[in-house]
Amino acid sequence: MTRTLQDAAHAAAACTRCELAEGRTTVVYGSGHPDAELMFIGEAPGFHEDRQGVPFVGAAGNLLTELLSGIGLARDQVYIANTLKCRPPGNRDPKPEEIEACHPWLLEQIDIVDPLVICTLGNFATRLLLSTTVGISRMRGQEFSYRDRLLIPTFHPAAILHSGGRTSTSWGQMEEDFRLVAKRLEELRGARADSRDEEAEQLGLF
Ligand code: URA
Repeated sequence: MTRTLQDAAHAAAACTRCELAEGRTTVVYGSGHPDAELMFIGEAPGFHEDRQGVPFVGAAGNLLTELLSGIGLARDQVYIANTLKCRPPGNRDPKPEEIEACHPWLLEQIDIVDPLVICTLGNFATRLLLSTTVGISRMRGQEFSYRDRLLIPTFHPAAILHSGGRTSTSWGQMEEDFRLVAKRLEELRGARADSRDEEAEQLGLF
């Protein structure tokens, strides 16, 4: 039986599977709706996330919130997590052994939330989930199947901060990718409702 997100987060709070346990302030497990239809997976907590215990609350988080609001969604309607649950010192890149040690937490989290669509933000989450070494510029905006779910990669919002902000090409591409995510989500919702109606009809419920 799968445990609840709350129980899993409680267990993760005591994790010592890698050396990041030594320097962290908090384990940033994830936040948002526990049954969200849309789940975002970023890289790793930064300074503010480590302090507050909540993913994407810094400058990159503000961009994510803005992109979400552009497709009519609030943060509490989606679920937001990271590839790593603890902050790498000085925000350095995650090490392969840290990604591997943290992977079971992420897999369990995806199973519990059970979203219709996953949107990976940046190289680390995309490469991990799709077992690829291809870079995000070539992967973004495409549709992949990930454990019977739709996965759409896009840039990490922090990339926008380093590439000219909202006037950059990448910002426009991220907006485009978010519109695709919203469109597919709508279609999948519709398909799920239809199949539920069909099932109910077969069971003679109406
Ligand atoms: N970048 C991430 O990948 N995750 C966060 O939570 C914050 C910044």
